[in-house]
This record gives sequence, structure tokens and C-alpha cells, in this order.
Amino acid sequence: MKSCCCRIEDAAAYYQGETKSGEKWTPAFIEYVDAEKCNGCGMCVKVCSRGVYEIQELNRRKVSVAVNAGNCVGDGSCHMVCKPKAMVCVPRRI
Ligand code: SF4
Ligand code: SF4
Repeated sequence: MKSCCCRIEDAAAYYQGETKSGEKWTPAFIEYVDAEKCNGCGMCVKVCSRGVYEIQELNRRKVSVAVNAGNCVGDGSCHMVCKPKAMVCVPRRI
């Protein structure tokens, strides 16, 4: 079973996706971006096909904000490109 960046103890308790070849995986959906870790690089904005992120200025720093978190499909593209691993994500319970 593949999952995003989250540790999942009991995969059966969570919503699971399936690849074309039938492999199970557990999507993890964005909750928020940890502004302390985010360096404002903007890579998440570039790779997210669902328009979840926006770069905003916070305390004179550029940071990513999950302005459309409800659009997330949990594919994990943003986690793969975020070097400081600033996203906080969770799988969805069944
Ligand atoms: S990829 Fe990570 S570090 Fe870069 S803006 Fe997005 S959340 Fe911040
Ligand atoms: S998991 Fe996918 S859809 Fe969700 S915020 Fe990241 S890139 Fe966008």
C-alpha cells in the first residue's frame, strides 16, 4: 500500500484509492501549510492542478496558504516538491 507523507497505522480505516493496475494507495488531503517551515518557493502553486495554494505575504515573509483546501484530491504532488515538508495532510476516515 502506498500513501502520501502521513504515517497510517490502520489503512483499512481510511478512504483508499486504486491505481489503474489495481494497487491500493491512501490519499492524504491538505489541512494547512506550516508557515514556520514554508520558505515561499511557490513550487506547490506550480504543481497543484487543483488550485489549492496561493502565495501570500505574512509578517513580511512570502508563504503558501491553502486557500482552496476543499479542492484537494490527495494525489501528493505538492508533498513531493516541498523540500521543507511544510504541508500538514491527513488521510480521510471512512
Ligand atoms: S513548496 Fe513548500 S516551501 Fe514551497 S511554497 Fe509550497 S509549502 Fe512553501
Ligand atoms: S495533494 Fe494534490 S490536489 Fe492536494 S494540494 Fe497537493 S497537489 Fe494539490
